[in-house]
Amino acid sequence: MSEKPSKTDGARVRDSSVPMVKAEGVHKSFGSVEVLQGIDLEVKTGEVFCLIGPSGSGKSTFLRCINHLEKINAGRLYVDGDLVGYRQKGDKLYELKDSEVALKRRNIGMVFQRFNLFPHMTAVENVMEAPVQVKGVSKAQAKERATQLLERVGLGDKARNYPSQLSGGQQQRVAIARALAMDPKLMLFDEPTSALDPELVGDVLDVMRDLAESGMTMVVVTHEMGFAREVGDSLVFMDGGVVVESGNPRDVLTDPQHERTKAFLSKVL
Ligand code: ADP
Ligand code: MG
Repeated sequence: MSEKPSKTDGARVRDSSVPMVKAEGVHKSFGSVEVLQGIDLEVKTGEVFCLIGPSGSGKSTFLRCINHLEKINAGRLYVDGDLVGYRQKGDKLYELKDSEVALKRRNIGMVFQRFNLFPHMTAVENVMEAPVQVKGVSKAQAKERATQLLERVGLGDKARNYPSQLSGGQQQRVAIARALAMDPKLMLFDEPTSALDPELVGDVLDVMRDLAESGMTMVVVTHEMGFAREVGDSLVFMDGGVVVESGNPRDVLTDPQHERTKAFLSKVL
């Protein structure tokens, strides 16, 4: 397997031995509507994997399947080598209990279009919450780490602000810090900048770029084609619940091979 040289200073560490996500013929239906119609893809450990496609193509549903929020109807989905939702013993599969699912989900951070911060908690309290409540970390330790994470996302001076006292972009950066506080192996971003005023998008993308440079494995659903081109290692174009085209972001974005990809890109680029 050939390794692409790192884009900046070699800070990115890659271990592509086990894919972080592997989907084989993943199907998901809601009632009679088949939203995912056989998704095959692989997200390598350490890579930034961008997912693009028109509204309704199944991108959010796919992220939710990775994060145990939806159950797939057919196919196989693995995260970090483990089958999502099941435990394998010999050749038998056992459904995971809720407590086991909760343990798996700790390894996955998710950032949504809407930031969903707790409104009655300050920025630093939002970031501390899960480590204290879920992992049993001491408040002092959690606060120290949360403060560092807020500094990392450029909000060291906003730790005591409530969400209502922060801009959308700042709230989204708190949401990223909050996800990172659980030390995830994988970060899922579902259109993290789509709800932001244009002038606030850049700061959030900078934080994501930084995270990518640190070696975090990221699956990013986005309409920010500049980000996909510059930061992405792989790009998939989905439409109608299938992967239409995939490859190196620069190749797909500058020289799409399929009509549907061309039509979509002509609208967003
Ligand atoms: P995207 O994120 O690409 O815009 P989604 O994954 O949100 O697409 O949605 C894909 C399709 O699945 C849409 O037609 C949507 O209405 C449908 N869908 C998503 N979630 C549900 C649900 N919980 N129940 C019924 N239909 C759903
Ligand atoms: Mg969506």
